[in-house]
Amino acid sequence: MPAEAIDSHAHLYFDRFDDDREQVIERAKDAGFIAIINIAVDEQTSSQVIELAQQNPGFCHAVVGVHPTHSGMPASELQTTLAAIEKLCDAHPQQVVGIGEIGLDYYWKDVSPEDQERAFIAQLDIARRRDLPVVIHCREAWDDTLDVIEKHGDGVTGVFHCFSGTVDQAHRALALGWCVSFAGNVTYPKAQELRDAAVVVPLDRLLLETDSPFLAPQPMRGKRNEPVNSLHTADQLAEIHATDRQSILESTTATSRRLFRL
Ligand SMILES: [Zn+2]
Ligand SMILES: [Zn+2]
Repeated sequence: MPAEAIDSHAHLYFDRFDDDREQVIERAKDAGFIAIINIAVDEQTSSQVIELAQQNPGFCHAVVGVHPTHSGMPASELQTTLAAIEKLCDAHPQQVVGIGEIGLDYYWKDVSPEDQERAFIAQLDIARRRDLPVVIHCREAWDDTLDVIEKHGDGVTGVFHCFSGTVDQAHRALALGWCVSFAGNVTYPKAQELRDAAVVVPLDRLLLETDSPFLAPQPMRGKRNEPVNSLHTADQLAEIHATDRQSILESTTATSRRLFRL
């Protein structure tokens, strides 16, 4: 029996999985996966992750919210959108296990930092009201993201997904009591900084994720990613923490269960 694993961050509702979504899920189950958490990026995909969870009860779970790169809209539209998303949380308590992905992304320049921050803070408030964990997306904005959470994140917990900050920023994330997750890019030869950050994250704060269809780990780099590939990431994390795949899967699965209350 393979060890139980959880992919805490995937986008299996993307059309890149339209031809073989069921096989992708089957492959994960065969490899020992007991859950896949699909993360929305806007209002429409928030409904899609819930549908996917309904189609795969107890296996697929939904995280709903507005991604920073999708948050460029007038205040009134944001209000309507977030009200609709909050309603989804009420209507689908069995499927919705978190709010995300939310945060700041300064790599893509389409949405102003002000718009991003407004959506970010409003969704931290939803998470607090609904007592749900958050999934943080951050790119090239680690200090600002941590600032927002330190200032507006009281009573909220969550995970920094696809961590790409420094060792110091990892310490700040951990000081909040939050979890940290590394995607397939932690396996890339040039990603020594990421591996240095992964060293300081204790096993009981670490999650496993693919960010499918993005960021396939080194052996499949450049190809479409899928949940089962996170076992390669698990091997990399095992090497970093001088342990084995089994222990990484045991601890990341327990931590995912605890954070998302699966
Ligand atoms: Zn992300
Ligand atoms: Zn993502």
